Amino acid sequence: MAAYDYDLFVIGAGSGGVRAARIAAGYGARVAIAEEYRVGGTCVIRGCVPKKLMVYAAHFAQDFADAAGFGWTLGESRFDWPALIAAKDREIDRLNGLYIKGLDGAGVQLLEARARFVDRHTLDVGGRQVTAETILIATGATPAVPDIPGRELAITSNEVFHLDRLPGRVAVVGAGYIAVEFAGIFHGLGAETILVHRGDAVLRGFDDDLRSRLATEYRAKGIALRLGRQPVRLDRQGDHLALGLADGSVIEADQVLFATGRVPNVAGLGLETIGLAPGAKGAIAVDLYSRTAIPNIYAVGDVTDRLALTPVAIKEGHAFADTVFGGRPTAPDHLDVPTAVFSAPPLGTIGPSEAAAAAKYGAVDVYEADFRPMKNTLGGSAERGYMKLLVEPRSDRVVGIHMMGVEAPELIQALGIAVKLGATKADFDRTVAVHPTAAEELVLMRNKARTSRVEAAAE
Ligand code: NDP
Repeated sequence: MAAYDYDLFVIGAGSGGVRAARIAAGYGARVAIAEEYRVGGTCVIRGCVPKKLMVYAAHFAQDFADAAGFGWTLGESRFDWPALIAAKDREIDRLNGLYIKGLDGAGVQLLEARARFVDRHTLDVGGRQVTAETILIATGATPAVPDIPGRELAITSNEVFHLDRLPGRVAVVGAGYIAVEFAGIFHGLGAETILVHRGDAVLRGFDDDLRSRLATEYRAKGIALRLGRQPVRLDRQGDHLALGLADGSVIEADQVLFATGRVPNVAGLGLETIGLAPGAKGAIAVDLYSRTAIPNIYAVGDVTDRLALTPVAIKEGHAFADTVFGGRPTAPDHLDVPTAVFSAPPLGTIGPSEAAAAAKYGAVDVYEADFRPMKNTLGGSAERGYMKLLVEPRSDRVVGIHMMGVEAPELIQALGIAVKLGATKADFDRTVAVHPTAAEELVLMRNKARTSRVEAAAE
């Protein structure tokens, strides 16, 4: 008789947990997975997927405006928020069903309850004790809201997908991925949108040219950027909210969305009972193979706070299963991960920013293209396109690409392959352009814009 109920017990059925469970089961392991909310996790249920659907919805306003320049006369257009939310919910339900079916098909047992450690091999799952040889923590992260009076009046990315109506005025606090994406969504759908950020530029950590260009585009669209402002309190005043800032000013809004980062979801897991102390910011520390300080316990995804991105969590979950159940030790690769911000216009990026690349390599050659997308010549939108290649001069390797423009997320996926392959600037140059596209700019950058050096990079 087996010593444990399961070979593997996974806590959390999000991107990382589901992948790990399915792959481990494929190797013949007896696997169970616990989920207290909905199978699919943040990305599918209240993150990437519903967000992207709302980004599509928001873009129609621009499309309708552009249409006139191409000879179209459109009737009156009206946006129906409940219709969008209902359609989005149907799609999320469908995906949730597919995830459940996928687990079932792989032979993974789903326990729809919260799991808590009893000891290193035992979990309390909704009042029932189960044992497993290996346990994987894949509980993700949860929105963090600064501890200011009235914070409970604000919404986070958990609630934003379920509002009854489109707010007339929205204040979005923060300037990371979620803040800039939702500022773009709300503005596109017709809400008066104010982005409030404590720093002096949006998207800290991104390339400075993307940061400044996106801010310019947002201002040009009519999104108000209140930079260098720290929220200190939130009050209800009649039918609206008043967001008090440290400089004494107040922003009135119907909804205030806090997109001020996410923290690893470890509360209530009972980590203290097994002697696993979370590290910085509450994250579970793991080695290259996602193993914690306790040999039979592993962790993947946002709960480890390595690179909080769904595709990374999936890679980590897969690598864990290959390592522990497939007999193939595999360390997930966190180098040169392409990523996109679904702002309006969106961004695509891979590799270090110009400043970080100069610091890393001593010097980096910069090639850039700033252009008016062809569609806008007739469409009339003032939105610009921008692309930047960072080339390490000694090897000629393209070490970073940063882009702004409608197709940037699609392009950066394909360009990620070139960067992973170690493509050089000469490889880009010998590739024939596809005309007329925006992407052809990438292979037509003949003149170096500048060489960025460490000194220049120091901020
Ligand atoms: P981020 O960490 O990206 O950004 C948080 C923002 O909130 C920053 O602008 C930060 O400012 C600000 N902030 C943090 N604490 C405070 C505070 N106490 N008071 C005022 N402002 C504060 O978090 P997000 O919530 O936007 O996203 C979480 C993660 O989810 C991202 O890191 C990303 O990995 C992932 N994600 C990825 C997406 C994608 O791939 N497209 C989309 C959405 C999320 P400062 O810069 O000064 O620290």
